[in-house]
Amino acid sequence: MTDTELYDVLVVGGGVAGLTASVFTARAGLTTVVVNDGESILRRNAHLENFPGFPAGVNSNLFTEMLEAQSTRNGADHLTGRVTAVRPAEADADDEVDGDDDARYVAELDETEDEETADDETTKLRAQYVVAASWSDVGYLDELDVDVRDAGSKRYVDEDGLGRTNVDGLYVAGRLSERYHQAIVSAGHGAEVAITLIHDSEIPYYHDWVAPEGYFSDRGREVPPGCEEISESERRVREQESMAAMQEYFAEPHPDRQRTHPSLVDDELGRLPDDE
Ligand SMILES: Cc1cc2nc3c(=O)[nH]c(=O)nc-3n(C[C@H](O)[C@H](O)[C@H](O)COP(=O)(O)OP(=O)(O)OC[C@H]3O[C@@H](n4cnc5c(N)ncnc54)[C@H](O)[C@@H]3O)c2cc1C
Repeated sequence: MTDTELYDVLVVGGGVAGLTASVFTARAGLTTVVVNDGESILRRNAHLENFPGFPAGVNSNLFTEMLEAQSTRNGADHLTGRVTAVRPAEADADDEVDGDDDARYVAELDETEDEETADDETTKLRAQYVVAASWSDVGYLDELDVDVRDAGSKRYVDEDGLGRTNVDGLYVAGRLSERYHQAIVSAGHGAEVAITLIHDSEIPYYHDWVAPEGYFSDRGREVPPGCEEISESERRVREQESMAAMQEYFAEPHPDRQRTHPSLVDDELGRLPDDE
């Protein structure tokens, strides 16, 4: 990417909270990009056993990849790179952007276009809303005067209980807001923050439900914004597709090496040596 790109929503951090938030904002029709650097801390987990819906647990690498695929499938774009600064858009008024530019923020990132050649370039993104889901980095928000709380070696972003920070249009999701340190908590918070953002936007009150045909309309009610009624044949098609996808995901053990704390091994991602 060379030009400045324009999005409704920039999500910083493609871990559990950020990816979940992006599923909701993209499904609501807000153009969404997730910028992620490194890996979700969840990849250090050895077997994820407390995320609802997986009775015998799930490989955390697989889980994170399925979440990213869900975000892509619902329309979010993904970039690999580190967001290094977010500032008010007027400070960068010279940027040339196609289309209506109602961006409030401009973000700078060191983008890794090609991991094979490690060919990095700095580029820019403009966005109306920013969701900071970047556990544990807040440094890129320094120019925004956002309220940050220092707690020993950790820094957390203050919010109003629904993810709004003291800076208009800037939201925080997941562990970065000092929510409890579990994947389901971060996922739930990512969803809640995204819905708050959607409600703060121009989009009418929003549910994001898929209901059986007639559920609303046969009772003489409008299908609410963000709701969809589907026929029984369409439901069967979607079920078949979901079954095929899950069979493929769960066909083989995940090939990635187990991660541990990076300080314990000579590897920046904390990858343990293969035991074979
Ligand atoms: C060893 C271990 C085991 C665990 N086991 C469990 C468990 O069994 N069950 C459970 O529920 N939870 C477990 N957790 C906790 C769980 O992983 C976290 O609570 C959850 O991942 C937090 O989600 P998050 O989205 O806030 O952060 P993350 O999932 O860590 O996502 C943050 C993302 O932001 C990226 N990022 C940071 N800064 C930037 C930047 N400037 N630009 C772009 N990207 C950036 C990071 O690289 C990362 O990909 C475990 C954690 C560890 C360490």
